[in-house]
Amino acid sequence: MAENQEKPQYTRVDQDTCISCGACEMAAPDIFNYDDQGLAFSIIDGNKGVKPIPEELLIDLTDAYEGCPTESILVSDQPFEKPDDPSSEKDEAKEVNQ
Ligand code: SF4
Repeated sequence: MAENQEKPQYTRVDQDTCISCGACEMAAPDIFNYDDQGLAFSIIDGNKGVKPIPEELLIDLTDAYEGCPTESILVSDQPFEKPDDPSSEKDEAKEVNQ
């Protein structure tokens, strides 16, 4: 168990399946909050899942992950999105130029 906690962990919420039950914010108030529509998201990095969760919050993360009734909390030891994806930047630039 201790070994697992030494690895970096990343999290984000799948808002397509979140039912706004409130459990994750109760379990991990320093990681999860709710947007305007009441859907949970990770406040660590705007729900991108690219910033490692601080070690002192990993127990809270596990509690939230295990307590989510819809398995909407995604946890990985790899970042979910690459911060600089050149192809998406190109698309954005195209839209701005139009
Ligand atoms: S515990 Fe799961 S379903 Fe409930 S608010 Fe959090 S992410 Fe949504």
